[in-house]
Amino acid sequence: MQDSEAPRRRMCSMKNLSKRYGTTTAVCDVTLDLHHNELVSIIGPSGAGKTTLLRLMAGLERPDGGSIEFGDGSKQREPAVLVFQDFLLFPTMSVARNIGFGLRARGWKRRDIRERVDELMARFGLTDKADSYPALLSAGQQQRVAIARALAVRPRLLLLDEPFGHLDKNLKMETARYLRRMQQEFGITTVAVTHDLEEAFAMSDRVGIMMDGRLIQSGAVSEVYSRPATFEIARFLGPVNRFPASLLECVRWMPGKAPRVTAGDDMHREALRRPDCRLYCRAESVAIVPDQDGPATVAEVVFAGIMVMYRVRIPHNGVDHELTALSLEDGIKPGTRVSLTISQLFSEETNPK
Ligand code: ADP
Repeated sequence: MQDSEAPRRRMCSMKNLSKRYGTTTAVCDVTLDLHHNELVSIIGPSGAGKTTLLRLMAGLERPDGGSIEFGDGSKQREPAVLVFQDFLLFPTMSVARNIGFGLRARGWKRRDIRERVDELMARFGLTDKADSYPALLSAGQQQRVAIARALAVRPRLLLLDEPFGHLDKNLKMETARYLRRMQQEFGITTVAVTHDLEEAFAMSDRVGIMMDGRLIQSGAVSEVYSRPATFEIARFLGPVNRFPASLLECVRWMPGKAPRVTAGDDMHREALRRPDCRLYCRAESVAIVPDQDGPATVAEVVFAGIMVMYRVRIPHNGVDHELTALSLEDGIKPGTRVSLTISQLFSEETNPK
């Protein structure tokens, strides 16, 4: 596993965690440190072991191997609070009573509960809903109540399982940014499990990528995105092309503004010496320009939101290769001859560095 982050104040340390259910290994040899006040998103396809890892952190499951230790050296997990996707508000309690629930359970005085609940409702924009019951709230408001309720007890660790799974796209991003602001204001170390990349990218300090029970890579969002450790990760994070290095004979190499351009430069030189090695690049780092002497032909044009996806065919050494380019330009028609420029390259053999 690659973790590109510099060491910071550690609040939780997971070492070689494993969890099996019968013959299924849900979590396999996961090692990860959580630092104070950071938000880490665990992303990966369904069945990758994300929820199981979260349940291990919450103390709801016992690991079959490995350990979890908190910064003070204790193995005690309290108070870690887990918020599930279906967030289970108490239907017969008002918003204020839902938020104050954990404080009442901890025997807080009525006046202190009121003070904290009022503060949270104000921060979460729920003051005018204090006496409403959950059924009368929108999905976004319900999720804000659930997060406010979790924050009321000032947990050491906030664990969120697909926190915005029920929300539509706009509300999801809005709530993600909201959570991020609250998490920073309250300074609470948070781990969120999600399969939604956009949401994870928008709110996280770091992301960890799980596949088949393993945490394959963790690091700052931009780092993981621009330096994926494997082709599978690159593909999970967005459209990606894989091709033999010999194809670079048909492609111009133009290092972009992306970080670590020199790695790409080295790779480009190296790749030309080893034409059989497999390279990959993101669709958005392929640029096409109409050019009647160009080596490629546009085979397909697909509108993909604000970007246009071009599939181009490049005959080379008797084989038709295909590359996908994502571009903001939408004027190029199928059948147009084009030249190609690539601004960032990866190779499985050379990553991670
Ligand atoms: P994710 O959250 O990434 O979708 P999970 O942690 O839910 O993945 O599941 C990982 C694997 O463990 C899956 O194959 C799932 O079927 C299995 N699994 C999870 N929980 C249980 C359980 N309680 N009993 C048996 N198998 C389980």
